[in-house]
Amino acid sequence: MAYKITEECISCGACEPECKNEAITEGKEIYVVNPAKCTECMGWFESPKCAEVCPVDACVPDPAHKETKEQLLDKWRKLHPGKTPATT
Ligand code: SF4
Ligand code: SF4
Repeated sequence: MAYKITEECISCGACEPECKNEAITEGKEIYVVNPAKCTECMGWFESPKCAEVCPVDACVPDPAHKETKEQLLDKWRKLHPGKTPATT
């Protein structure tokens, strides 16, 4: 399931460089996650980095984008053609 950023976001920017899928960008008022690029960090790490660094717990799973582990890994492979995921 892709992550999303809630309105608790204080736009500190800490999450953006942590996302190796470049799924996080600065929006008009808060930072936003592109669900087409978020793999829950699957393929890179065992846990979501944005959620780990966010000082206000604004990075949360998005129930509107439910995906299985396999779907997340497929997304990762499409984002990083030719590379091997670090987590499976
Ligand atoms: S969970 Fe990982 S892939 Fe998804 S937005 Fe956060 S840092 Fe990026
Ligand atoms: S780390 Fe949290 S508060 Fe900072 S920009 Fe990202 S979502 Fe917003």
